[in-house]
Amino acid sequence: MSAKIIDGKAVAREIQERLAEEVVQLKNERGITPGLAVVLVGNDPASRVYVNNKKKMCEKLGIYSEEHLLDESTSQDTLLALIRDLNSNPRIHGILVQLPLPGHLDEKAVLEAVSPDKDVDGFHPMNVGRLMVGEPGFVPCTPAGIMELIKHTGVGLKGKRAVVIGRSNIVGKPVALLLLAEHATVTICHSRTVDLPGVAREADVLVVAVGKPKLVNKEFIKPGAVVIDVGVNRVQTGLVGDVDFDSASEVAGYITPVPGGVGPMTIIMLMRNTIEAARRKGK
Ligand code: NAD
Repeated sequence: MSAKIIDGKAVAREIQERLAEEVVQLKNERGITPGLAVVLVGNDPASRVYVNNKKKMCEKLGIYSEEHLLDESTSQDTLLALIRDLNSNPRIHGILVQLPLPGHLDEKAVLEAVSPDKDVDGFHPMNVGRLMVGEPGFVPCTPAGIMELIKHTGVGLKGKRAVVIGRSNIVGKPVALLLLAEHATVTICHSRTVDLPGVAREADVLVVAVGKPKLVNKEFIKPGAVVIDVGVNRVQTGLVGDVDFDSASEVAGYITPVPGGVGPMTIIMLMRNTIEAARRKGK
């Protein structure tokens, strides 16, 4: 095995320490306590765990947080009314609606109801557009975390070949735009890409966000490449990524493990966006 492991937990911890200092500074210098509201509809156990983790991280950082746990049968109107209240609540700087929503709710309408200035998940079309045209807005948390991990390796992106496997709105497309903004030459691959291993092998930086256990092995990897595995797949032996870690490690220069790579970064980027929302609002 030759690849260096990118330790997402350690990088997240470093950023957490910096953010805690920023929260103290915001309070002391401007009297602002950042506030995050998390809205969860229904009883999905995984979503409950995520919401709880967000609450705990807010406590650690000194961020005010509110949980709004709504019944599975909540109507669209009730949910939209809550979002309107949160949009105008001065204690709240960031609003996160935990996805997926129960099937009877219109996810698109709900996400569009969140004020773009409080959209710390970066899913509102206004923030998607800002990312596209390179204006400051909120960047989705997982792609933002991926960029921090790449930065941490010290491998520059300017002029490099970056390949993203997966074209979802929450990971693949936004991370491709962020790589482009850093002057990489970017290729986006998906389920219909012809010769996926051949295209992937051109990458100096390979980001894999597919949701298929161990799809990528050493045949996909250019020697020395940075490999970021976003996939989280539950198999009989536990959690595995989209990358076959042992095989890929023989060839890659840097690689993220699963778990302990991209995962810990996502929540910390949510905290960063919330602090940023508070800072902008106070201006
Ligand atoms: P998605 O299902 O929305 O998108 C998957 C993408 O992969 C699609 O664009 C599809 O075209 C592509 N794809 C499917 N099969 C393929 C194949 N055989 N070859 C090439 N491309 C193929 O998924 P998503 O929401 O982007 O999530 C991807 C993975 O990342 C999942 O495992 C998810 O659990 C994980 N994820 C992790 C985090 C985190 O914080 N760690 C956050 C978001 C998503």
